[in-house]
Amino acid sequence: SAPSLSLPWQKGFAALGSDFYTELRPTPLPSPHWVGASHSVAQLLGLPEGWHQSEEALQALTGNQVFEGSTPLASVYSGHQFGVWAGQLGDGRAILLGELAGGHEIQLKGAGRTPYSRMGDGRAVLRSSIREFLCSEAMHGLGIPTSRALCITGSPGLVRREELETAAVVTRVAPSFVRFGHFEHFAANDQEEQLRTLADYVIDRYYPECRSPAATSPWGGNPYAALLHSVSERTAQLMAQWQAVGFCHGVMNTDNMSILGLTLDYGPFQFLDVFVPGHICNHSDHHGRYAYNRQPNIAYWNLFCLAQALLPLIEDQDTALAALESYKTVFPDAFMAQMRKKLGLTQAQQSSEALVEQLLQLLAQNAVDYTIFWRRLSHAVAQGQFEPVRDLFADRMTFDAWLLSYSELLALEDKALAADLMLNSNPKFVLRNHLGEQAIRAAKGGDFSELATLQRLLERPFDEHPGHEAYADFPPDWASSISISCSS
Ligand code: AMP
Ligand code: MG
Ligand code: MG
Repeated sequence: SAPSLSLPWQKGFAALGSDFYTELRPTPLPSPHWVGASHSVAQLLGLPEGWHQSEEALQALTGNQVFEGSTPLASVYSGHQFGVWAGQLGDGRAILLGELAGGHEIQLKGAGRTPYSRMGDGRAVLRSSIREFLCSEAMHGLGIPTSRALCITGSPGLVRREELETAAVVTRVAPSFVRFGHFEHFAANDQEEQLRTLADYVIDRYYPECRSPAATSPWGGNPYAALLHSVSERTAQLMAQWQAVGFCHGVMNTDNMSILGLTLDYGPFQFLDVFVPGHICNHSDHHGRYAYNRQPNIAYWNLFCLAQALLPLIEDQDTALAALESYKTVFPDAFMAQMRKKLGLTQAQQSSEALVEQLLQLLAQNAVDYTIFWRRLSHAVAQGQFEPVRDLFADRMTFDAWLLSYSELLALEDKALAADLMLNSNPKFVLRNHLGEQAIRAAKGGDFSELATLQRLLERPFDEHPGHEAYADFPPDWASSISISCSS
């Protein structure tokens, strides 16, 4: 048999104690097989060469055996779902194997029931696992903070959703999976001691700068206010990146908000095809609470919940509000910075704001494909040939007027540098729903090559990848009929 995979497990979250989680073993799945793997994540974790050939890894990453030195657990959290307090939730199907030296936590998603599963079966299907795996690595390729995905294993074991589907497990990786909801949990239960323990843990491990003494910190030596401020800023930066790339998360409940400002919990997410500002990607989101253009405000709403949870530690309401306040400037500034990069503009001109606003209106009015627009614009600037981008607009006159104002700003830039900036800011490849769907269909038939191909493109989405034009093309008509809702 293969040599035993000895991994350097260390006590991280588990050191917090049993108020924070339940120790338990994953529930086995029959006859697991590999579906996909990310070698860059394996490298990040320092896994030994050949880990992917190891039967032990296959079994352990499906939850069929436990790595030596790991103490698996499910953590408890609460949260607001769709704007309503939902009470206790918790890891209902994710099991934390532990933390590796280097500071990477490893979770198995879909590894069986936990005390927090409520009515759920603790499982995930192949379809949703492929989507999470691909999107994690796609976001990373785009330079957007995210949990990562090491691999997917599949099993013939059946899971009931709308129909019977096969089970799969995603191994996901992040420095921490702590969510806003973890704080809300202890605040709601008046467990101030645990709340403080958790906040101190997060600060010491991930935000040590929040301990700056009063003299050097605007937070007057209030580390919990400093934490809230830092999380607000990271979240603002994340929202700017989501909006700029056209990413819709779909379920921005407070229990899906990472305390590290990572994109977390890939469910009904979608990258925009046509630019529709009010696009709703989650079929269960009947009121469009999580529509694309509402995400930045929802993030602020969620931060407000976090602020309320931290209030017993911050102690003063005005200080808590002040710590949130910068979101209102950091988000728009970060968003404009993203958009300027997409336009190849290196100088923060006053007029670029109006230019962006007009452009987004034009894209919406003309129902232009968001990703294709930006990539064509990048090539247009590189080649001085705007016809292909102009062709995307029905209303050419208004586009020409916009192009004229844009050209004035572009004239202030070094053309070659601008084009280069644009081609590295506007991806050629994003994980459109139909691309994921094609990989899923092939995988259901036992062919994982489509998944691997798509993964390779998404890992380097700014490269041209000649011969793969079809993956950068407009979505086919059937794409709009793909329906995706919450947990699957
Ligand atoms: P989500 O909407 O995916 O963020 O999930 C919300 C809550 O439901 C979390 O506590 C999840 O762990 C739990 N959950 C989602 N799907 C399942 C499932 N199939 N089995 C058990 N718990 C689940
Ligand atoms: Mg979740
Ligand atoms: Mg989920």
